[in-house]
Amino acid sequence: MSTQSDRTTVRVFFALWPTAAEHMALAAWQHPLQHQCGGRAMHGETLHNTLVFIGEIEQSRLEALQLAAQEVSGESFELCFDAARYWGHNHIVYAAPVHVPQPLQQLAGALEQRLTRHRFKFDPREYKPHVTLLRNAHWTDVPLPEMPPVRWRVKDFALVQSMSQDGVASYRVLARFLLSPSEPLSGG
Ligand code: ATP
Ligand code: MG
Repeated sequence: MSTQSDRTTVRVFFALWPTAAEHMALAAWQHPLQHQCGGRAMHGETLHNTLVFIGEIEQSRLEALQLAAQEVSGESFELCFDAARYWGHNHIVYAAPVHVPQPLQQLAGALEQRLTRHRFKFDPREYKPHVTLLRNAHWTDVPLPEMPPVRWRVKDFALVQSMSQDGVASYRVLARFLLSPSEPLSGG
């Protein structure tokens, strides 16, 4: 490999990447919401929840990035998206969990900690779990209609490459990192 190709960069982020059934259930929210708010619907199979956004990184560091992510020990959990919301500052309509499960907050924190430890840079903004459904939408402060809750059984997280072609984003899952099975609830 030449020195030049060693400096090739890729755009990557860590995310919860759902199963086909899970993303289809959320994609079903898009049509009624688009009816209300207009905008452009994200392709159903690309719906995801960004955990940590890295951005451009040299390809040669991807292996080390994966090793850092492997150090994260998290527990699998259920994530229930039960609210459709709108951000006026970027015109995004998104699905959000009303209650953020503790293991999800811990996962995002643990991942950031391992990345910091290994000197990877990432966007340090506070983690706000959401799945972008519509772009360029327009809405007010009025609550969006209720949507049927969608449950994701989160058993792993993913390192994803983001590519943009003719202004259209496409994604590629580069690696998955398993979470340990969660403890069964006692006393049942
Ligand atoms: P495009 O930017 O080409 O329209 P995109 O926003 O889906 O498409 P990216 O910008 O590569 O693609 O972002 C990938 C994912 O990371 C998206 O879920 C995006 O919302 C999220 N993301 C992008 N930038 C940041 C950031 N600075 N902090 C946190 N999350 C981000
Ligand atoms: Mg973007």
